Amino acid sequence: MRDAALEVVRVLQNANHVAYWAGGCVRDMLLGREPHDFDIATSARPDEVAALFRKTRLVGVQFGVVLVRTFGHSLEVATFRTDHSYEDGRRPTGVTFSTPEEDARRRDFTINGMFYDPVADEVHDFVHGRSDLKTGLIRAIGAAAERFAEDHLRVLRAIKFASRFGFAIEPATWEAMKESAADLRRISPERIRMELEAMLSRPGRDVAARMLADCGAIDHLWTGSWALHSIMPRITTALGALPDSASFEQALALLLVGYQPKLAVQACRELRSSNESTDRVEWLISHQHTFDAPDALTLADLKLLMADAGFAELVAYVAALHCADARPTALVDSIRRRAEAIPQKDVAPKPLVNGDDLEQLGIAKGPIYKKVLDAVYYAQLNGELTTREAALDRAQSLARNPESGQ
Ligand code: ATP
Ligand code: MG
Repeated sequence: MRDAALEVVRVLQNANHVAYWAGGCVRDMLLGREPHDFDIATSARPDEVAALFRKTRLVGVQFGVVLVRTFGHSLEVATFRTDHSYEDGRRPTGVTFSTPEEDARRRDFTINGMFYDPVADEVHDFVHGRSDLKTGLIRAIGAAAERFAEDHLRVLRAIKFASRFGFAIEPATWEAMKESAADLRRISPERIRMELEAMLSRPGRDVAARMLADCGAIDHLWTGSWALHSIMPRITTALGALPDSASFEQALALLLVGYQPKLAVQACRELRSSNESTDRVEWLISHQHTFDAPDALTLADLKLLMADAGFAELVAYVAALHCADARPTALVDSIRRRAEAIPQKDVAPKPLVNGDDLEQLGIAKGPIYKKVLDAVYYAQLNGELTTREAALDRAQSLARNPESGQ
């Protein structure tokens, strides 16, 4: 991708255009981190860009963005521009093509506002991004209050970058964030969720949560989210105890840990989380007490949990909660040990008895089937039934007397 990004710059420069790498990739490079994508900014107009490359697609004509496909990578090439006024605090009403310096000034934070010429190996820094990068500061470009009023989402972006890099937020920027926090209500829930996802999916998630609370943003993330303030210390401790690789869902389930599962689902829906993501969060929250009394958890209970793809996440989730609540680690440790001792093939073995067998036994079809099959399978998982004969016997007697339980 780096080579592709270099090649695109070369082609543009050879055609007498100014072309640089821009924004996040310059920041990452200067931090010694591998950028995950390269954006290119150029003096060439979209039609000029399109004429220079074989495979292009206009992705944001109104913003002058062309997607160039080369060396198997897609790169965004954007014409230097100035954004017109933001009337709704969400998106600019239009753009004018302009100079590199003006293009730098429309960007959000100084560390995100630099250009790099990979051919000449030169950084072009119109916004003092380099010094803020050295000190570790998130600072709005220009007048902070205006910049957050233009686009309220920047409040969350500031927290995302601060928590990702372990940076502080410059005081005037921080004050402006506090003033704009309530305007987050006007931002689309999808965009809010995407920023939350970005900050909660990596280490530093505890720092992010604390900043969300301290600047007041947490009050405006979903209906009723202000209530999180009172349990913030518990949540941030738990977030800090999650493994680095923890998922968005594990972290969100910690934020929502005080909610009834139904209300947690409502919050996820409000954030426009996918069904799958919402289900994960709900599952974690509704199982948060599962390991409170490990001895009460039968072998079958444990296997049924282990058969769920989210089991490892649940263990880490509960361990983080126990850490926040200063509960003994022995509780979760004992579960981990018991789970490790169960061979994979025994977690979800084929049932000894199925519906056809019940039919063969002459049991009349009905809701009883599920009841009997579940009970027999549970006994099988528990190691009480090891042969098909025994399982059929059990099914027979259960069908006759469903309340017998044995
Ligand atoms: P990441 O590593 O998360 O992708 P990034 O800095 O590349 O971080 P993007 O959201 O990909 O962030 O945006 C690319 C660049 O566009 C930013 O570095 C910044 O210069 C500019 N930018 C993005 N969003 C905004 C915004 N809301 N307001 C102003 N400038 C923005
Ligand atoms: Mg990016």
